[in-house]
Amino acid sequence: MNLTRRELLQYFGMTAAAGLSGSGCIGWTREEAIPVDSWHKSVCRFCGSGCETRVGVRGGKVVKVEGLQSGWNRGRLCIKGLLNREILYVSDRAQYPMVRKNGQLVRATWDEALDAAAAGFREALAQGGPDAVAFYGSGQLFTQESYTANKLFKGGIGTNNVDGNPRLCMASAAFGYKSVFGADEPSGCYDDIEHATLFFVIGANMAECHPVVWERVRDRIRTAPETRVIVVDPRRTPTTRDATLHLQLRPGTDVALLNAMAHELLNTNLVDAAFIEKFVTFREGTADSPPLTREDFRKFLADYAPEKVADLCGLSSAEIREAARLFGISQAAMSFWTMGLNQQTHGVAANRMVMALHLLTGQIGRPGTGPFSLTGQPNAGGGVRDTGTLAHALPAGRLVTKEHDRHDMEKLWGLPEGRISPNPGLPAVQLFEAMREGKVRAALVMATNPARSLPNADRYREGMEKAFLVVSDSIFPTDTAQLADVFLPAAMWSEKEGVFSQSERRYHLVEKLVDPRARRARTWRFSWASASAAHGVHRPVRGGRGARAAPRRRAVSG
Ligand code: SF4
Repeated sequence: MNLTRRELLQYFGMTAAAGLSGSGCIGWTREEAIPVDSWHKSVCRFCGSGCETRVGVRGGKVVKVEGLQSGWNRGRLCIKGLLNREILYVSDRAQYPMVRKNGQLVRATWDEALDAAAAGFREALAQGGPDAVAFYGSGQLFTQESYTANKLFKGGIGTNNVDGNPRLCMASAAFGYKSVFGADEPSGCYDDIEHATLFFVIGANMAECHPVVWERVRDRIRTAPETRVIVVDPRRTPTTRDATLHLQLRPGTDVALLNAMAHELLNTNLVDAAFIEKFVTFREGTADSPPLTREDFRKFLADYAPEKVADLCGLSSAEIREAARLFGISQAAMSFWTMGLNQQTHGVAANRMVMALHLLTGQIGRPGTGPFSLTGQPNAGGGVRDTGTLAHALPAGRLVTKEHDRHDMEKLWGLPEGRISPNPGLPAVQLFEAMREGKVRAALVMATNPARSLPNADRYREGMEKAFLVVSDSIFPTDTAQLADVFLPAAMWSEKEGVFSQSERRYHLVEKLVDPRARRARTWRFSWASASAAHGVHRPVRGGRGARAAPRRRAVSG
């Protein structure tokens, strides 16, 4: 298949539309008579579900990708997984390093590009010291890639300005877990689905966004009709079709709803007193805050009686009571959530309250129970959270602010004591603000497109224009690549070896199966025109303090 990215997106759309006419999950595998030389196990890395795949290779090319029957996904893949093969061979894939010369990105050798990147960073370091440079990564990188970048910047260059796009999606869940349990990451696994009798889905449209996990939930519903499903979502979605109870609350009122459910559980004595007595300490904030009593918590919740918050939430008090009752009487309750809960100003509180419902009712630590946040990106957990590739963190839950943790890593990395800075670096949004203000003068951006995906992206594009920007991405010319001083094309999933984790914290080895795509100088074009068409319209950089009259990075030749 020789598709451009635009054509591939259209193909996605058409096939998805056909598939979605059914359950919302496209759970079929391709049945083409393609001869294959060898089969290999791999994993789809388009979302945090981490579906296991079987990859057919012939003549040095991936020719077939299908769901692995013995994998947790039971042979299923969604449309994105099915197109893992096509994405490798689209015709407008970037294959050459490029450097900006006289305002234009032009093709370069790897040596020229790496020399230019090093020179730009050297200059920034000379002018502003270690904190004048930064790394911005993503949950798309392999664990080894994130770890190496973290080590290079924190241990080598000496700056903690290391962050990434998981800051914008999973930070609420990560802080929720850390503050409630003392450790980040969900407590359950996919096998719990077969033991659950209640699924509490809040702020997630799993049927469309995590369709293969959802199809496994539907398997459970099909085979155990007593299973109940509560979906909390302001919208009606394909997921709500399977709901026993759909709480169509007002956006932004989920903390009030969760508090009301906790109030009702305590009031009707549907809590697990023995579990609470043995395992739960009530606190207002983190582990450092003073402990409270259960009575204190009950008093706090007095303002959240179902009838008091029903209007605020746009629900009836009976609906709230029923949700609490179903949760409380369930033999095994499992919660799923994602960005609807995480991406809001009170995302941490919402996460903590979902976890609190499990602790109040003892719905944790048994098969079929537990709070289980779903990740959007394939490796946000293993690649970024486990490796500590965030401005405040070090690998394996260590923190830059803790002397003991810094010394541990200095020893492991063979560094002199005191090498790692004790000051947290700049988290995502502040990092781009600092680029705008000229404080961060050079940055390496890998496997993400902040010029498109940051909130208020127009504002921060200005910073990306101003700074010396090195962009590494595996595939298409993105909005961020358009602003680069140096662009480095990277290999994709089966073209390199590495490790990915997924939502249930399972680590997958992704083997290198084929060489990165052959270079075809005569046919390849680095076409910003086609990129603009594929991504929508490129908006010019807005004027403002420090903005240039006209964007300097537009012209590209290849
Ligand atoms: Fe890939 Fe996620 Fe689809 Fe599974 S659900 S096939 S991991 S995109």
